[in-house]
Amino acid sequence: MHASDTIPGGALVLFSGGQDSTTALGWALQRYDRVETIGFDYGQRHRIELDCRPVVLDAMRAAFPGWSAQLGEDVVVSLDAIGALSGTALTRDVEIKMGEDGLPNTFVPGRNLIFLAFAAALAYRRGLKHIVAGVCETDYSGYPDCRDDTIKAMQVALNLGLERRFVLETPLMWIDKARTFQLARDLGGDIFLDIVREQTHSCYAGDRTHVHEWGRGCGVCPACDLRAEGWRKFAAG
Ligand code: ZN
Repeated sequence: MHASDTIPGGALVLFSGGQDSTTALGWALQRYDRVETIGFDYGQRHRIELDCRPVVLDAMRAAFPGWSAQLGEDVVVSLDAIGALSGTALTRDVEIKMGEDGLPNTFVPGRNLIFLAFAAALAYRRGLKHIVAGVCETDYSGYPDCRDDTIKAMQVALNLGLERRFVLETPLMWIDKARTFQLARDLGGDIFLDIVREQTHSCYAGDRTHVHEWGRGCGVCPACDLRAEGWRKFAAG
């Protein structure tokens, strides 16, 4: 899709610096005339993901001049209250495991609902129609705030509550990690795939010292497992 074919109205992408949100950002840049980004600092156990955000953005701007022209403001919103409330493994120094309720203890209750509400408030102020999130029901079925029904209900709630016609887009909702790698290559060839692979961060342990085919990470946490398995499936074709 060329820039002249893009959809007007602009988009705000929830961009964390991870594989999924970076791929969703590439998707939005192929689709919308102008694209802004928002990230959240909520007392994550490791700030590495936040540190990856500007690195990924700079790499995308350098590699794709067209995308660079479409990319607008990037905002990081401080949400310390989430960390103070949640006390889960993502924000406290405890082991990551599955809870008795079938949810990993990395789950921060309602986190995506809070993110979407803040994103909508910013999109309202910035005059952006589309809100893009890299949430996925396929890999993270344990996260109820990533489900398709949740996102659709949230779109209705936001449109009623803010008196706007936002469209919440979730390009990764029904694809697994292997197809997310494939989507990155479809969007920007091996150059974008390499940015996703090498510059984005998934590891729950905040490890960027160990280098693997699928990127950097500890190689043993659930996020690394998922990413490594996705890469193996993608690479096998
Ligand atoms: Zn890891």
